[in-house]
Amino acid sequence: MKYQCGVCNRAIEGDLIIFKEHVEHHIVEEIVKKHPEWAEKDGTCRKCLEFYKKQMNG
Ligand SMILES: [Zn+2]
Repeated sequence: MKYQCGVCNRAIEGDLIIFKEHVEHHIVEEIVKKHPEWAEKDGTCRKCLEFYKKQMNG
């Protein structure tokens, strides 16, 4: 199954992360700051998730 990452627009295979849990809400907020058009339900790829996680940890 193929998805398109709503953050980097890469086509990805079976690795889309959709934020269903509030655990990742702070990461969602960080992404929305940089990508106002992005919606949480669009999800992100693992690379984007890791990227924003790192940003938050400095
Ligand atoms: Zn991505």
